Amino acid sequence: MNDANPRRAFDAIVIGAGVVGACCAHYLIEAGLQVAIIDRGSVASGTTGAGEGNILVSDKGPGPELDLALLSRRLWFELIDVIGDRAELEPKGGVVIAHDGATLTRLREFAEVQRAAGVETHDVDPMQLRELEPHINPQIPGGVHYPQDMQTQPMLAAAHLIARGVQSGRLSRMTDTEVTEITRDESGRVTGVRTLSDVISAPIVVNAAGTWGGQVAALAGVDLPILPRRGFLLVTEPLPITVHHKVYAADYVANVASDSEGLETSAVIEGTRGGTILIGSSRERVGFDATLDWSIVQRLAAQAVEVFPMLAGVQLLRTYGGFRPYCPDHLPVVGADARVPGLMHACGHEGAGVGLAAATGYLIAQAVTGRPLDLSLEPFAPVRFDSTPERVGAHA
Ligand SMILES: Cc1cc2nc3c(=O)[nH]c(=O)nc-3n(C[C@H](O)[C@H](O)[C@H](O)COP(=O)(O)OP(=O)(O)OC[C@H]3O[C@@H](n4cnc5c(N)ncnc54)[C@H](O)[C@@H]3O)c2cc1C
Repeated sequence: MNDANPRRAFDAIVIGAGVVGACCAHYLIEAGLQVAIIDRGSVASGTTGAGEGNILVSDKGPGPELDLALLSRRLWFELIDVIGDRAELEPKGGVVIAHDGATLTRLREFAEVQRAAGVETHDVDPMQLRELEPHINPQIPGGVHYPQDMQTQPMLAAAHLIARGVQSGRLSRMTDTEVTEITRDESGRVTGVRTLSDVISAPIVVNAAGTWGGQVAALAGVDLPILPRRGFLLVTEPLPITVHHKVYAADYVANVASDSEGLETSAVIEGTRGGTILIGSSRERVGFDATLDWSIVQRLAAQAVEVFPMLAGVQLLRTYGGFRPYCPDHLPVVGADARVPGLMHACGHEGAGVGLAAATGYLIAQAVTGRPLDLSLEPFAPVRFDSTPERVGAHA
């Protein structure tokens, strides 16, 4: 639904009304800017509508992504203060399990390194595992408990943040509106966007187009190597609450970090406030092919039953898929594009876009307004993929 706002000139335009675009718009208006958020579909019609909504630190080793995740986790609490409980934020914690002794040793070594980087972790033996998750397979030899992991409902978070911005009078929401060009002046500076029916001006354009971030970058004449990484999710019938944490197998972390195009699956199971249980997770690079693959559904279901045997008797309500925005180095693209003054990117978050959205929007607003950054954007710089010598030099 569009606002009856006749304004066609803004301080900033955000392309993409997913959870990342919503957070960018939120922090930009909090910084005092007049903002338009534009989406060719509806709010959360992209990957945000397909995500599980985990805000995770457990799956990240020390480095820039973990730093971003820790900042984002803190900011998510602030966002929930702003929009209230309506985004179903649950700071319920995560439990990572190992199916054998060797994997358990590696998992605990990984947790120790994470602990040194500021992540709260607790090794758990089979008895402690069953205290955390009474229905878990008693054969599982142990795992690690991560109390900082959280979950939200990303569609609701995006929708409420955007609705709040619109109510404040500082955000204009334009849905069913495809951006077809990022306009520039003779010096190459951004002047706004062209849509199928309009020209909208702003000196700052934020590319928050997720998996389509590369296509939107191309509208300004620059490359970003963002590719779709398909994933399916299974949703069970509603049950009394039987899974209390996000529970996943240790091989999930390796799957996330893998560069393989082929299919990778690992058991990921978690409850929701409504009683349904979400079961993932698959990853493969097959372009934008949305065809449901029943062999993957069966594999995910079997892996979940191995962890929670009681799921064997539970009906599936539905299954659906989405396309994670994959970058070759598994880091998002966040910050100003040195090639096009006025163009900012906030995309390519792969399977962590919900978790990282708050910090992304926050840092984008700091960069746009010239305030000191809470975290360096250098590791996320858009030009890091650009191999021409003068651009690498400009970036260094
Ligand atoms: C199965 C699955 C499970 C996941 N689980 C998690 C999880 O637990 N935790 C987590 O953090 N992440 C998870 N993710 C990843 C997460 O969902 C994404 O990283 C995140 O939603 C990306 O949000 P976004 O706002 O960047 O992109 P999107 O939500 O895709 O928004 C981009 C928007 O840009 C719009 N757009 C594109 N081109 C144009 C144009 N030319 N003009 C106008 N609009 C345009 C699109 O319509 C779209 O709405 C999961 C993903 C999948 C597929």
